[in-house]
Amino acid sequence: MAEPQAIHLKDYLPPAYLVDDVALKFDLDDHATRVSARLKMRRHPQREAGLPLELFGTALRLTHIAIEGQPLDEGEYRLDAERLVIAKVPERFELTTEVIIDPAANTALEGLYRSSSMFCTQCEPEGFRRITYYPDRPDVMATFTTTVIGDRERLPVLLSNGNPIESGELPNGRHFVTWRDPFPKPSYLFALVAGTLEKVEDHFTTVSGRRVTLQIWVERENLDKTEFAMGALKRAMKWDEEAYGREYDLDLFMIVAVNDFNMGAMENKGLNIFNSSAVLANPATTVDANFQRVEGIVAHEYFHNWSGNRVTCRDWFQLALKEGFTVFRDQSFSADVNSAPVKRIEDVSVLRTMQFAEDAGPTAHPVRPESFIEISNFYTLTVYEKGAEIVRMLRQLLGAERFRAGADLYFSRFDGQAVRVEDFVSSMSEAGDVDLTRFMRWYAQAGTPVLEVEGEYDAEAQVYRLKVRQHTPATPGQPAERKLPLHLPLRLGLLDADGAAIPLWLDGESRGTDTVVELFEAEHEFRFERVPSAPVPSLLRGFSAPVKLRFPYDRGQLALLVKYDEDGFNRWDAGQRLALAAIEEAILALQAGVEPRLDPTLLDVFTHLLDTPSDDLAVLAEMLKLPSEAYIAGEQETIDIDAIHQARRFVTRALGEALEPRFRALFEANQSEVPYAPSFEQIAQRSLKNVALGYLCATGGEEALHLAQHQFEQDRNMTDVRAALTLLAHSDAHQLGDPAVKAFGERWAHDPLVMDQWFAIQVTRPQPDVLDRVRFLMRHPAFSIKNPNKVRALIGAFANLNRVNFHRLDGEGYRLVADVVIELNRLNPDIAARIVTPLTHFQRLDAERQSLMRAELERIRREPLSRNLFEVIEKALA
Ligand SMILES: [Zn+2]
Repeated sequence: MAEPQAIHLKDYLPPAYLVDDVALKFDLDDHATRVSARLKMRRHPQREAGLPLELFGTALRLTHIAIEGQPLDEGEYRLDAERLVIAKVPERFELTTEVIIDPAANTALEGLYRSSSMFCTQCEPEGFRRITYYPDRPDVMATFTTTVIGDRERLPVLLSNGNPIESGELPNGRHFVTWRDPFPKPSYLFALVAGTLEKVEDHFTTVSGRRVTLQIWVERENLDKTEFAMGALKRAMKWDEEAYGREYDLDLFMIVAVNDFNMGAMENKGLNIFNSSAVLANPATTVDANFQRVEGIVAHEYFHNWSGNRVTCRDWFQLALKEGFTVFRDQSFSADVNSAPVKRIEDVSVLRTMQFAEDAGPTAHPVRPESFIEISNFYTLTVYEKGAEIVRMLRQLLGAERFRAGADLYFSRFDGQAVRVEDFVSSMSEAGDVDLTRFMRWYAQAGTPVLEVEGEYDAEAQVYRLKVRQHTPATPGQPAERKLPLHLPLRLGLLDADGAAIPLWLDGESRGTDTVVELFEAEHEFRFERVPSAPVPSLLRGFSAPVKLRFPYDRGQLALLVKYDEDGFNRWDAGQRLALAAIEEAILALQAGVEPRLDPTLLDVFTHLLDTPSDDLAVLAEMLKLPSEAYIAGEQETIDIDAIHQARRFVTRALGEALEPRFRALFEANQSEVPYAPSFEQIAQRSLKNVALGYLCATGGEEALHLAQHQFEQDRNMTDVRAALTLLAHSDAHQLGDPAVKAFGERWAHDPLVMDQWFAIQVTRPQPDVLDRVRFLMRHPAFSIKNPNKVRALIGAFANLNRVNFHRLDGEGYRLVADVVIELNRLNPDIAARIVTPLTHFQRLDAERQSLMRAELERIRREPLSRNLFEVIEKALA
């Protein structure tokens, strides 16, 4: 096998030929689906005449090919495993082909495949080439007419993009439906679904009065789990009209839930296909966080209709153009309909824990990569989450009004086109009248920038000088000396010793108590005047840029910020810094073999939080949570897996013991008899109650565990049940945990999404016997390695969330994950390349673990690897 080759952004050329219109016919069959295609093509006006026609195609059996109705002889075209090349074609022509494909054998879940009893598709990024020969790249946009033929009995529902225009019966118990999508689209937005499905239907009237039919298609047993997603869809449609002036454009909008799906969901024009975990929800089976996830993903895919579908990407290097912008849009939507500060805290937690780790690891890449071997590997946190932070910074730099004008300009100027990141940023620059030349570096430079800030107070002059330096560490292929200063907004304020906000005077100008300064250079100095006393700076408010902020805060200053900062996000962040310092102190004590002690400042802050009435329970719940082990690890020079785990446990337990009556009171105060709703007020209350229960159970006290057991048995809603079950299952009290785990598994054996939660709860147990449990569960009838949700719930949760056992010193955790990766490499390369990630993050671990992890990666490398895994493993071992 030849070594896979990288594709480079700098080599981009427009396609030699364009497609204006496509007519497809699918005759569905498990192992021999016949796909006929008629493409109306012409030479690209910017490319020279006489170029050969190159079409992509993978795992297709060609049975017919003709140009202008004339069948081609074998000598007139060339076929290999990935391409069909026709040496000579006219300037303008009609190409017809027929191929046979095998959906039932498609375990990669790209192109057309079987999921349960249905047929469905996933074409982004390069799945369409597994359906028919096509110039499968996003800068080829065509209108599609699709006829789907299937067995009337087995496949009563036949769906594709656009509006249905014709249907009817055929001989031999077969029937057909023809769909027409009038909007030109790239092939990655093509979709087809066929199966025994039922729908719930609703309507939405757009701002201009168009009545749109909304349908959610599911298997019959899931009909009672669609109401929430339908409501979310209508909220999203309304929000996009108000916030961005974007209206829906077809008469029909459909969502289909599919059990076997590599991603969360897919924004195919008019026919969104969803992983069932990202759309199905009801109180008995779904936890609060998943209700919010469903709402966010439904909105995200809907928002793509403009940011992605109407205006799409020129090439896959521009993926962040649609994803970064759309993630920002869905984050803003969720913030508007729920608690804005909590949404920000959650998003920043994901970014700082997972994206920062990616930025520091062997696969670090810019938001717009310069090359790739397999584009599926670049559907990353960097492209999505850091991409969204870049858009958020633009909004901060431009202000809400000019940002909206920039978005309007972008949509109107580029509607119907496939464009680049530059087109988006230049729309913002033009509408906002700002120079964004340096800002573009955010798309090109990998790694997490570091801001080093120092403050200097001159009492006599009443001047406070803030010195800010920025640098970005080296990443693969980008040495530190090549990294340039970035343009970013730094939002800040100053507090006095009593916690009161100090009015800001900068360069003789009043700036209120909260201001944004812009950084462009490697170093800046900001001089605040009329500062009456030595201030405590509140820096990077709202997390105004995706950077690591270093400021030599002492614990007293952090405590002051927690208690009094006017910015909710920074109050939370100061608490996280304080907790991190306390945990780091415990880590040092454990490493030195000394008894750790609970930091009195942290105890004081927790006491203050629990004793001070709060009008934002959701933020309070977040403030009472300690940083995760993964976040703590991200802050260490050398990661001591076991000490981090022990130290965090110690601090949790010590807080639980010291504040037991208060946590008990908090737990009682947030009990509720009100019927369940996933409203943010109720979510805040449950979150607070379950955080309190967590601290109580951490003491190991029998009484606390009985509270958890009681909550489990009360069976009010899945959020409370799952919280209680997790505490029981993760405790040492087997006599309570084991029967609860068993009862839950039996009760929900019929529900795949609940069984995913059951797997995840068990494989995240901190006890050392968990590996046997993982192996045992891999043989459970509810587990299947072919189903990505199961793999994520069992193997993904173990490797990413059970750090102390994944990183066991006997190497058994690594071996288990590597075995799974090797099997997945043959079945589903996309998922294999994702599951392997934790094995590649060994750079700051001890030598023993590093060599164990490398050995497993070497073992994987000896396999015949898919492009996906080849690229990741080569980078990790480089
Ligand atoms: Zn997306």
